[in-house]
Amino acid sequence: MNFEQFSLDARLNAGIKSVGYTTPTPIQQQAIPHVLQGRDVLGLAQTGTGKTAAFMLPILQRLTTGPLRRVRALIVAPTRELAEQIHQTAVDLGKHTKIRSVTVYGGVSKNRQVEGLKRGAEIVVACPGRLLDLVGEGSIDLSQVEVLVLDEADRMCDMGFLPDIRRILKLVPQRKQTLFFSATMPDDIRQLANDILKQPVTVQVDIIAPAKTVSHALYPVPEGLKKKLLFSMLNQTATGRVLIFTRTKRRARFLARDLEQEGHNVEALQGNMSQNRRQRAIDGFRDGKYDILVATDIAARGIDVADISHVINFDMPDTVDAYTHRIGRTGRAQESGEAFTFATQNDDPMVRDIEKVLGARIERRQLDGFDYNGYAPSSPKSANGRAFNQSNGRSSNQPQNRRPQQNQRMSGMRGNGR
Ligand code: AMP
Repeated sequence: MNFEQFSLDARLNAGIKSVGYTTPTPIQQQAIPHVLQGRDVLGLAQTGTGKTAAFMLPILQRLTTGPLRRVRALIVAPTRELAEQIHQTAVDLGKHTKIRSVTVYGGVSKNRQVEGLKRGAEIVVACPGRLLDLVGEGSIDLSQVEVLVLDEADRMCDMGFLPDIRRILKLVPQRKQTLFFSATMPDDIRQLANDILKQPVTVQVDIIAPAKTVSHALYPVPEGLKKKLLFSMLNQTATGRVLIFTRTKRRARFLARDLEQEGHNVEALQGNMSQNRRQRAIDGFRDGKYDILVATDIAARGIDVADISHVINFDMPDTVDAYTHRIGRTGRAQESGEAFTFATQNDDPMVRDIEKVLGARIERRQLDGFDYNGYAPSSPKSANGRAFNQSNGRSSNQPQNRRPQQNQRMSGMRGNGR
């Protein structure tokens, strides 16, 4: 199975080659032929399945013919980060074409976005608020939209964007192709999909259950020992890029600071940061400047960083959906990853809910050598017998004010047959 089967424009095949995709992912195999035929699609797929290219390739194919420099495809996404990533996918896959994409989202100056629109673009990737803003000002004309994509619709509703989406729907032509992607299908999302899709084809990949390439473990721990457990885990475990989730912006900020004091290369990613700082944090994480990113759910939405080896839920997520989305950060595409969740007794009900959705009990682990009554890590072995990295030649009781050595990155965790 390869991309040739879709008979895409040669310039798009060249784009696919340059980003290095060789085999379509299951959602791409299922969705691309229908989208190419102009059908409405209901895509039940989480981030990490390759859904962006599943809608972007057929959109680019459509745009290779017909008028240029008018907005013909509108993609609406919940966060700026996700909008940027979708835009980047359009730029990368369409780089041998003349098709232009612009992003439209709040938190940054309007000028560049308005200028980009004035220069002319066929694709607009937008967050709802700023999009409505620019429509109101007359800076963007949606009357020629041929394809509308609502990406991560469930998250947009969680974030309170449903009224904005309904407003946007009134601004685009009735006659159009609509592609609707959501990882989960709560009632309000199902209702929205029913209202706007015309005889849709449903494609479904791994709905709700997190990517199968991720292995899960729970670390039961009292609240007061979480930070020490995390420090021990990071210092002993062979990790690559680690994404840590906290419940609040404040906790993300303080935890990042504490990790930095421990000698880690770490940055926070939370909603109080300016858009520029958030982008710098993500870029730094992607480029290897930071090994650890401490994030809140909303800020981390849609981060597309390859090779995240571990997601650590320092705080239990509030919903099963949030768990699914967090875990979707690792094990992306064909990679494998591990998801560690710190669980206090208060988290028991959420653990039960998550296990129900996963359809399996999550393995309980203890960090071997960690004193759950105090703090005295000593043993070099993990609870399941896997050797922890000893390359830094010190016992765990020594001061820990240095970052894990570079050669720890990505070692050990992949090649153990899981
Ligand atoms: P998405 O679910 O669209 O966020 O995609 C998740 C990741 O998979 C991104 O890093 C994509 O670049 C990557 N990806 C998408 N399609 C393919 C493919 N056919 N082969 C390899 N990687 C892919």
